[in-house]
Amino acid sequence: MSRPIVATLDGAALQQNLAIARQAAPGSRVWSVVKANAYGHGIERIWQSLAATDGFAVLNLEEAILLRERGWKKPILLLEGFFNADELETIDHYRLTTSVHSNWQIQALATATLSAPVDIYLKVNSGMNRLGFLPTQVNSAWQSLRRLDNVGNMTLMAHFAEAESHEGIIEPMKRIEQAAEGLNCARSLANSAATLWHPQTHFDWVRPGIILYGASPSGQWADIAGSGLKPVMTLHSEIIALQNLKAGEGVGYGYRYHSRAAQRIGVVACGYADGYPRHAPTGTPVLVDGVRSQTLGAISMDMLMVDLTPCPQAGIGSAVELWGNDVKIDDVAHAAGTVGYELMCALARRVPVVIR
Ligand SMILES: *Cc1c(COP(=O)(O)O)cnc(C)c1O
Repeated sequence: MSRPIVATLDGAALQQNLAIARQAAPGSRVWSVVKANAYGHGIERIWQSLAATDGFAVLNLEEAILLRERGWKKPILLLEGFFNADELETIDHYRLTTSVHSNWQIQALATATLSAPVDIYLKVNSGMNRLGFLPTQVNSAWQSLRRLDNVGNMTLMAHFAEAESHEGIIEPMKRIEQAAEGLNCARSLANSAATLWHPQTHFDWVRPGIILYGASPSGQWADIAGSGLKPVMTLHSEIIALQNLKAGEGVGYGYRYHSRAAQRIGVVACGYADGYPRHAPTGTPVLVDGVRSQTLGAISMDMLMVDLTPCPQAGIGSAVELWGNDVKIDDVAHAAGTVGYELMCALARRVPVVIR
């Protein structure tokens, strides 16, 4: 018998989540964001479940090439464009759409030898001050690109720093309006939060990521609880050992938990080297043998301990859900001071993954 940890992926949930993103933005086309290896789920495992999308948005050429080699013929967007002018040859070869956020990229496009014009997403700095041209620089960047034979269709693109709240998009939308003045251009602005909650941001293409995987863009499951979105990944393991504590005994590294009374605890085959957050404190939710319980003490590299008080029937081999349909990844992340995005992306390679 091998170590009992496994992550299962729900292909039907991916399809359903994509359909919900579409319903939220019925007049727009959808870039399904599959950067970071599909938020840790594995592009090669999940892309077919998302095949009803209009395009895939990725970070790097490796992800784009993988999709092309598996047979994806529709658009692929490089969210941060090319990192080096040499990459334009590959962009040309695989017919990729590239973001352009800096002047050096315009120069590179001007001097490249391409077989056909490349489609461009010109990025506006919406105020986040990460990537993109200031609203006042957009018009001249746009005109420079428009003059190039190497440039095909052009779309204005922006990203929101804080699309979870209504106030968060007011200033950015003003800046985007200013940037778009006189251009009469297609636009792509909305991430998951804006797709769900701000119809005025939808325009031509929306770019949902986290909601496709069934977690909340706000970090709070409650914010998407009524939406029909369904968690895609379930991380399961089992109890591999039991301990009976007397009152006042310590548990795990640093004895970070002490029993108050006699207590039965279980040892689970899952640790931070599997991608479970090491910062998860005592009390982080976990499902043991179908019953909600909590972690106790520090998370080890390969194990963690759980309270068996609410589930006295549990024993060696009892099923444990670390996150999934019952224990929301948002709740585990919240307890550990992070977001579901980080936990998904950090799922370790040593965890076997199956899609069903
Ligand atoms: C990651 C990313 C998205 C998707 O963000 P979610 O919050 O996961 O929906 C959209 N656009 C850009 C530019 C991104 O980098």
